[in-house]
Formats: sequence, C-alpha cells, structure tokens
Amino acid sequence: MTITDFPTTTSGIRGGVAGQQALDAAQFQLAEAVRFLGLDDGLHRMLATPRRSLTVSVPVRREDGRMEVVQGYRVQHNLSRGPAKGGIRFHPDTDLAEVTALAMWMTWKCALVGIPYGGAKGGVAVNPDQLTVRELERVTRRYANEIQPLIGPEKDIPAPDVGTDEQTMAWIMDTYSVNAGYSVPGVVTGKPTLLGGSLGRAGATSRGVQIVASAALGDPAGRTVAVQGFGKVGALAAQYLADAGCRVVAVSDASAAICAERLDVADVRAWAAEHGGLLGYPRADAISHDELIEMDVDVLVPAALEGALTGANARRVRARLIVEGANGPTSPEADLILADQGTTIVPDILANAGGVIVSYLEWVQNTQAYSWSADEVEVKLRDLMEGAFREVRTLSADRGISLRQAAHAIGVGRVAEAHRLRGLYP
Ligand code: GLU
Repeated sequence: MTITDFPTTTSGIRGGVAGQQALDAAQFQLAEAVRFLGLDDGLHRMLATPRRSLTVSVPVRREDGRMEVVQGYRVQHNLSRGPAKGGIRFHPDTDLAEVTALAMWMTWKCALVGIPYGGAKGGVAVNPDQLTVRELERVTRRYANEIQPLIGPEKDIPAPDVGTDEQTMAWIMDTYSVNAGYSVPGVVTGKPTLLGGSLGRAGATSRGVQIVASAALGDPAGRTVAVQGFGKVGALAAQYLADAGCRVVAVSDASAAICAERLDVADVRAWAAEHGGLLGYPRADAISHDELIEMDVDVLVPAALEGALTGANARRVRARLIVEGANGPTSPEADLILADQGTTIVPDILANAGGVIVSYLEWVQNTQAYSWSADEVEVKLRDLMEGAFREVRTLSADRGISLRQAAHAIGVGRVAEAHRLRGLYP
C-alpha cells in the first residue's frame, strides 16, 4: 500500500492542514491494519467513522468585558469495549479532524494495552497561554457544561492532554458535579490527588515512555537521548530516562533547543519552570530545532505535537530508536523512510499509553472510593506496559511488520473482535 492509497474521506470529516494530516495518518494506519487482518469493507467503514461527534460554541467573557466565541469538540470514536476515554486539548489549531484522529488513536491504544475503554478526545481552539486564569476557568467550565450530555463516569471520561492539566480537570469535575448535585470524582482522570486523583498519574505518560524505551534498548545505561518537547510528557521522560542511566544530550521546547555532553535534567527542569521555558538556559549550547531532530543519538523522543517527523526531515534523522511520547508525531511518509533506514519506532499508541493506563487505575480507585499507594500503581503500570510491548514485539518479529503496524493490528483486531461478539443492533 502506498501512502496515497487510503480512504481519506471515509470519516466524512475535513479539517485544516494539521488536523487533516493527522486524520489522514490515522486512516492510513487503520486501512493497513484492516488489510492485515482481512476485515471486510463494512467493518472498515464502521471503524473509520466516529460513533459520536459534538461541536460546541463556547462563549468566553474576556477580562475587558468583550465576548468571544471559540469552537470546542468532543468525539467518541468507539464504545465497543467500554466507556469512551481520552484527553481534552486546548490548542489554537485544534479542529474536528485532529480531535477525530486523536479519538481514533485512543480506541486502538486502550485496546492494545487491554484496558476496558473505547476512544474519545476533546478539544477547544484556544491558546491557554493568552488567557488569564479566570478566563481559562470560564472557558473550561462553559465547555464542560456544553459537553455534559456526553460525559460521565460510565459514558466518557476526559483527562488532560496538550494545554490542559490537573486544574482543568478539577474545574470540569466541579462543573459536572454541581450540575449533577453531588460529587462525581470519576467523571475525569488526571485530577489533583486531593480530589481523587491517583498517585503516579502526573508522571505516568513519561514513566511509560521510559519503561518501553528501556525494554526496547535492553540496557539503557549510557545510551544517548534527545527529547523534542519539554512539557508535561517530555520533561519527565527526560528525567526518568536519565534516572535509568541514559545520557540526555539535548532537549527542546517551543522557545529553544539546547544540547550538552550530559544535561543535568533536574537542573534544566527547575530552570525551565522558573523562567517559563528553555530559552536562555545557561549550562548548555543553543542549537536549532532541526539540529535536535537530526542529532546522532541512540534514542529520539518526540514529545510535542503531531508532524514532528515528516517526509521533509525523516531522511536526516540519525537516531536508532524513536519512542513516541506525543500522539502522531510521525507522518506515514516519514514512517516509510525511517523503516527503510532501519530506524525502530515504538509507536505512540504503545509508547505513550502510560497516561491512559494510570487514568484507568485512577477511575478504578474512584469507583471503589479507595486509593492505592504509588508503588501499587507503578507495578500495575509496568505490568501493562511491558506486557503490551512484548505482544507488539512478538507480532512484529513473527510477521515481519513494523512495531506500529503490529500495535495497530492488535488494537484494531481487538475492537473488531468486540464488534463481532456483540453483533449489530437491531
Ligand atoms: N491525553 C492522554 C493520551 O493521549 C491521556 C488520555 C487519558 O488519560 O484518558 O493518551
């Protein structure tokens, strides 16, 4: 299959450039898995189409009294294996196509790691950095109110994603609870621990990245690492990889990229937290964002947004192993080029599944009104991540396909099997 040979219009949704590319990539990966599994056209169409999509207009009162209206989305891609699950993204470029792609990836991710959820995603087209805290709270609460009919602990459980955090989840939990008339902690995950959040959730995606990177490397000691994106996922992934014995040589965020013989990651994190980013960090050399992507390292961790690795730069990537902390950082074209070059890619739906795994553990704790120790959470996270990694690696080796193709084949296959067992109503 070539990368132009896939049904871009199957979902019937079109978006802006970035969103459309993400959705095209998701559809391409699904089409490959459908072909590998020998699924029929009807099932393919069903898996390619979101179950429910809601677009909402969110009016926001700015501090100066003006009212603006921003678009928000919640897409439930598939519900066959359980309630819908997935984060909410606040980003100016988000659109229905991107949210649909991200929801689809959540479906395969949850199925792959064996947690009983379907896939969903939400988004609001705002730049949180340009809003005051009060404006952000108003946007969040109004958006939560608009999507309230879709969400709920048994229906669809949001979580943080790009541009949202524990505070966002606390506001959503509060809005939902006030409307319900009682506290409903299980309506969101990634909450503050005081409100029922799980120990270990904040660093879970990064911990998962380190677990699969270590599994893929065998021995992480002394391996060189570059991390693109120094946000919630990337900064702690760099820290955990350094703690595991890797030598972190470069990191970047939107403001700057820096490199050194061995970065003191704890120091870089503290400095970035204090100064609002990496720009001007004194104990490293400044490099360009392209130079970071092209560095001769053992491991490259793209941990920012989609579109980091494309047909335009993939040939210059020299990392031996890529571990995708972000969702969809590698375009299908880049995937083919990197496979040709012999680069191993641990794909997003496996590499960054630690977040939704601990979200699941949080939700289980909430439904039992009980909480586990950090160690209990970490043991469960490690078991699920390592188990999924072994399954993907085995299928990839047995069938001579990439880790991404194997991960999608397993995820899509489980959802298809759930459809078959449940049958079609009516
Ligand atoms: N936003 C994260 C992801 O893309 C976590 C989702 C969740 O915890 O539900 O996997």
